[in-house]
Amino acid sequence: MAEEILRHDVEDETTLTYEEAVAEAKRCLQCKHKPCVDGCVAHMNIPEMIKKFLEGEGDEARAVAISGNAFPQICGRVCYQEIQCELKCVRNKVNQPVKIGKIERFIGDTYKNPIPKISEPYLGKVAVIGSGPAGLAVVRDLIQENVKVDVFEKKNYFGGVLRYGIPQFRLPNEIVLKQIEELENAGATFNRDQNLSKTFKLADLFERGYDAVFIGVGASADNYLDIQGKTSPKVVSWKKFMEIVNLYDEPMKHTLFCDVTTITCIGGGNVAMDVVRSARRLGMQAHLVYRRTVDRMPARIEEVQEAHEEGVIFHPLRDPFLVNQREDGKIELNCVVTELFVDEQNPRGLIKNTQENETLLCDMVVMAIGSSVRSLHEEGLETDEYHRILVDETQKTSLDSVYAGGDAVTGSLTVIHALKTGKNAARSILDQLRQTK
Ligand SMILES: Cc1cc2nc3c(=O)[nH]c(=O)nc-3n(C[C@H](O)[C@H](O)[C@H](O)COP(=O)(O)OP(=O)(O)OC[C@H]3O[C@@H](n4cnc5c(N)ncnc54)[C@H](O)[C@@H]3O)c2cc1C
Ligand code: SF4
Repeated sequence: MAEEILRHDVEDETTLTYEEAVAEAKRCLQCKHKPCVDGCVAHMNIPEMIKKFLEGEGDEARAVAISGNAFPQICGRVCYQEIQCELKCVRNKVNQPVKIGKIERFIGDTYKNPIPKISEPYLGKVAVIGSGPAGLAVVRDLIQENVKVDVFEKKNYFGGVLRYGIPQFRLPNEIVLKQIEELENAGATFNRDQNLSKTFKLADLFERGYDAVFIGVGASADNYLDIQGKTSPKVVSWKKFMEIVNLYDEPMKHTLFCDVTTITCIGGGNVAMDVVRSARRLGMQAHLVYRRTVDRMPARIEEVQEAHEEGVIFHPLRDPFLVNQREDGKIELNCVVTELFVDEQNPRGLIKNTQENETLLCDMVVMAIGSSVRSLHEEGLETDEYHRILVDETQKTSLDSVYAGGDAVTGSLTVIHALKTGKNAARSILDQLRQTK
């Protein structure tokens, strides 16, 4: 087992019962032109998965899902189906789309496709840097082809954003740890505290006999609003905040949280929603500050609605400019009140500051305005101006036998995009190993 499960007191939205899953699957019309498949980033064969499930071939149905995306249990929980496969489902024209995500989740949770344990002689030896979804997808696809895979992760736990970012009420730790355990049981090794470019270099890996390397280091550099007072210890990034929420048994006993009753989060995307909704679950008061109006927030509508229902206090049309720590330890977040105007050039509208200011009082400010790719210092590894690693259509980088995928290549995107690039890279690595064997 890679590591102990740290938190047990998590909610997980109840999955469909078998009868509910069958009833939902029966709504699928098995469309010949498969619009839902076009809507899926990974082009998972959704009607085939549903067909196999209804024929009583649960394991086969799961295998169909896995051939599109490595981890149906995870995607069934976190994919944005309402703007992907379910948006394209023809059932939308009549009433509701088929609940593809819930069916996928049921199949992923219920059935099994054991990965055989690897044995010598191996097809090759591959190093995977980073244990987020992109890296895990590579591990899964290589290990089942009898490739020896070693994962190198800079943190002391595995799973990337699946562990430290996405809150457990949406994706419980157990689900992620189970996938990692399965890969370990099949023969993959997971090595913690291994930081590429700091504790080792790419060249070291080739000297140690690896045939290929996959880089899936994500987009882990926090973006900070450049305002006065941003370096106060009471101003933290979403990453720090969510790491404590997700990885500590009793987050409210953490030194950073123990005196916090009220937070103010800056941002309007899904990450900001995860922060404020997690804060509410810890019993904190949660305020959200956003420069535009609520309907212009980039977050999913249902996340915004749920945050409202859970008691998050929204402060739209506010642009923070100063953080001030008072003598009593409280934090003042000073915002200018903004106005939003229609702008032909920008569909999200033009923001103008008014003369009015507002000060919000809290114990901690959380910045949730996105992340960027951290620069890797590896000679010959070409990146763009935002440090995103440049790859060709096979995920190959500018360096021989080095592949990359996930957010490190695309910038912050989604789990299914990371899984897709991981699968693509695994395919290319397998081609390389077979050609050089
Ligand atoms: C709070 C939050 C919520 C999200 N919710 C959703 C959601 O509901 N649905 C969805 O589809 N997407 C969601 N996303 C986006 C999604 O999680 C990411 O797109 C996805 O995790 C990217 O996968 P990755 O494997 O490329 O990178 P990551 O998940 O970031 O994993 C990268 C791994 O590499 C490690 N690493 C970094 N640098 C090094 C190094 N130098 N050496 C070794 N290891 C290194 C990191 O520690 C990490 O474990 C969310 C993102 C956040 C932040
Ligand atoms: S579009 Fe909807 S109804 Fe048609 S095959 Fe896909 S899931 Fe089934």
